[in-house]
Amino acid sequence: MRTTHYTGRFAPSPTGPLHLGSLLTALASFLDARARQGIWLVRMEDLDPPREMAGAASDILRTLECYGLHWDSEVVYQSQRHALYEDAVKTLLQQSQAFYCTCSRKDLQALDARAYPGTCRGQLTIPAQEHAIRVQVDNSDIHFNDALQGDCTFNLHNDGGDLVIKRKDGLYAYHLAVVIDDAAQNITHIVRGSDLLDSTPRHIHLQRLLNLPTPHYAHLPVIVNAQGQKLSKQTFATALPQTDPVPALFACLQALGQQPPAELRQASRDELLGWGIGHWSLAQVPHCLSLSETSLARR
Ligand SMILES: [Zn+2]
Repeated sequence: MRTTHYTGRFAPSPTGPLHLGSLLTALASFLDARARQGIWLVRMEDLDPPREMAGAASDILRTLECYGLHWDSEVVYQSQRHALYEDAVKTLLQQSQAFYCTCSRKDLQALDARAYPGTCRGQLTIPAQEHAIRVQVDNSDIHFNDALQGDCTFNLHNDGGDLVIKRKDGLYAYHLAVVIDDAAQNITHIVRGSDLLDSTPRHIHLQRLLNLPTPHYAHLPVIVNAQGQKLSKQTFATALPQTDPVPALFACLQALGQQPPAELRQASRDELLGWGIGHWSLAQVPHCLSLSETSLARR
């Protein structure tokens, strides 16, 4: 029987098919949840239609199923949750924590600063011209303890400054949506890529303003190739094979430092995942994840 002391999630953006790097993230999040008898959810972060690829959302879900990463409860689509995000924007404006920002792109570039300097703070009536909505940040450090990265400290005032929560083009910002949805889905544990590590203090800031709980975070180390070069999302070009999930799952377990025994290369998908759940240890995840697309084929 599953309890709700742990709810994790995988939250892909449907900008393309699932690749090896995102499978690794999904698998780590899945194993961490299942090893602790937790719930594991999938959320589709389809907030930014111009960046999305038609059919990618269903393709990602099919691939997760093919790889045995079965989720609990229905998939949540951010594109269907705009009303919730708008409520939060209104609340933040009413509390004078947010403001309308009419700075043009040119204005912002001219500043040439690492942080938005608060130019439009206090602007609380809807301007006639194009505007974004920003939330104020404080000039104080935000600390959190990451299960993989250790103690982290950020100062949002010096790094980025007041956060955009609704863009000029009317789209809700990722930072706002993710915070609202994590709370709405009662997410307690987030395992994700370290590319999002510097988003986390922004999320914590918004959680505090909106009176929402802060989940536990674990940011997976960067992924490097066999030559030790850092791999970004874009460098994994190949879509995952839908025929045989075992080689890629095995490679991900290895990259995550879980040391699956070689004979499991010949195991079934569910045997391999069962082993992964039974032996999962976050402490064994190395400081650097080495992963190569050559591992996609069966040896
Ligand atoms: Zn401004």
